Amino acid sequence: MPKRKKNFLCGHKGYGSFCHICKEKETLQKQKKITYAEKKKERDAWQALFDNDVIDLTMLPTHKLVTKARQVLEALHNHPFHELGGKRLRHDRNIISIPLDRDYRILCRDQHHQLIPLRVMSHEDYNVRKPGHNLHVKSTPQASKSI
Ligand SMILES: [Zn+2]
Repeated sequence: MPKRKKNFLCGHKGYGSFCHICKEKETLQKQKKITYAEKKKERDAWQALFDNDVIDLTMLPTHKLVTKARQVLEALHNHPFHELGGKRLRHDRNIISIPLDRDYRILCRDQHHQLIPLRVMSHEDYNVRKPGHNLHVKSTPQASKSI
C-alpha cells in the first residue's frame, strides 16, 4: 500500500503520526537549553571559586591568569618567594611583588617572614600609583638581594 503524505497542522507535509521536521526542531531546542544550562552551571561554579581565594582575583581578565594566581598563592605556602619570581619593592622592602605575567602581579606583605597576600595589581595600577618610579630603574644596586 503506497504511503501518502499527510498535511500536518503546522503546515509541513510528511509521513507518520507526527511532523518529523517539527520534532527535530524541538529536539534541537531542548539540546540548546541543556547546553545553556550546563554552561551557566559551569560559569556559576567558576564564580563560586572566587569566594575561596584569599585575595580578590575577579579583576584578572582570563581564566588562565586566575589559575596562575591560584597556583602562585598556593605555592607561597612552601616556596620562597624568589623561586616564584617575586621581588621586594624598592620603595617598600616589606612588600613583595610576584609577577603573573607582564601586566599583572600579586603583592604580598612580608610579616615576620610570613607572606600575607595583599592584592592583585595591574601594571597600569602600579604606574599610576607610583608615578615616575620606573624612571629610575638603574639606581644603586641593592645591598641585600636575598634574605
Ligand atoms: Zn511541522
